[in-house]
Amino acid sequence: MDIQALIREIPDFPKPGILFKDITTLLRDAGGLRYTIDALAEKCEHFAPDFIIGMESRGFIFGAPLAYKLGAGFIPVRKPGKLPAAVHSIQYELEYGMDCLEVHQDALHPPDCRILIVDDLIATGGTAEATAKLVQKSGCQLVGYAFVIELKDLNGRKRLPEAPIVTLVQY
Ligand code: IMP
Repeated sequence: MDIQALIREIPDFPKPGILFKDITTLLRDAGGLRYTIDALAEKCEHFAPDFIIGMESRGFIFGAPLAYKLGAGFIPVRKPGKLPAAVHSIQYELEYGMDCLEVHQDALHPPDCRILIVDDLIATGGTAEATAKLVQKSGCQLVGYAFVIELKDLNGRKRLPEAPIVTLVQY
């Protein structure tokens, strides 16, 4: 299935000059959504993750059903102040300024911890890199990354801590 045809491009969002990849049109399509989760599952099955870690908020949309399919648990990584129990935090650089991600301290603990990082899209790689550092800090094993979309020109994969990377659609 051509899922790229179901991804809409919105010019000048959220800022002038950015061509935003809108996945809501893919999510709305029953066949497209099912195909996307099935394709991710097929390509990620061999990682045999214990947990999928997904980043707020579009990483939740793909990460949770993928965890269900692979028989793994799901761990949310959230923006600051959203998680109720004690957290590990990591700051990372955006194009302009800094951002922060948090995960529950008791969510990641060896030895049962083969972790697959899932998000809708990799651009500069900053979000996935920060999440990978949270995983590494915990002592868990990062077994791979899965993204529905990769923006290749931004070279995000180059900055990611070493682990195999699965992507479905490349621009
Ligand atoms: P990065 O940290 O630069 O790799 O940006 C990736 C993060 O920004 C992901 O969590 C995406 O959800 C979000 N993002 C960046 N660009 C787009 C886009 O064009 N469409 C949807 N999400 C985007």
